[in-house]
Amino acid sequence: EFAEISVKDIDLVAKSSFPLCMRHLFEKLREDHHLKHGGRMQLGLFLKGVGLKLDDALAFWKAEFSQKVGAERFDKEYAYSIRHNYGREGKRTDYTPYSCQKIISLTPSVGDHHGCPYRHFSEDNLRAALSRMGVNNGAVEDVMDKVRNRHYQLACTLTFEAIHGLSCDAGINHPNQYFSDSQKILK
Ligand code: SF4
Repeated sequence: EFAEISVKDIDLVAKSSFPLCMRHLFEKLREDHHLKHGGRMQLGLFLKGVGLKLDDALAFWKAEFSQKVGAERFDKEYAYSIRHNYGREGKRTDYTPYSCQKIISLTPSVGDHHGCPYRHFSEDNLRAALSRMGVNNGAVEDVMDKVRNRHYQLACTLTFEAIHGLSCDAGINHPNQYFSDSQKILK
């Protein structure tokens, strides 16, 4: 259902079409060259859903993690779980990307970057992140209003609309839906 994307396009599409939860993980990975397990699962399965093939996924994660833990440790400790996400190890389940409902229900600890920023960020961090995404001040207030009422997916939908300048009638219920709706508009 989703088109393929290659490693060289990731930065571009991350900026234009990733929902905030995935942009945050992506930026942290680029910054720290590391993500904890919850973040690797949430971002890894999303990227799989976006159309990143296994070989590209391994290259992408390895390029980051080797800068932190070295290539050898990456191959030993981290490559397995990426192949596992693609159903190439263990029970060979073809794992599906997390829905918003699942991500919102997660309970990230200190040092974790997974979860839904509308639910899990402090108000200040969320405001700053929205303004970095290019959401104007008026729209930020509308988003914060939804957040205060715990309507996290509606907050994400308003963000989508502010960034793309169009309404998203269906509402956002899955990060991969956010991505594909965005790509449809931008293409
Ligand atoms: Fe991600 Fe869904 Fe939260 Fe949007 S509402 S940031 S897509 S989990």
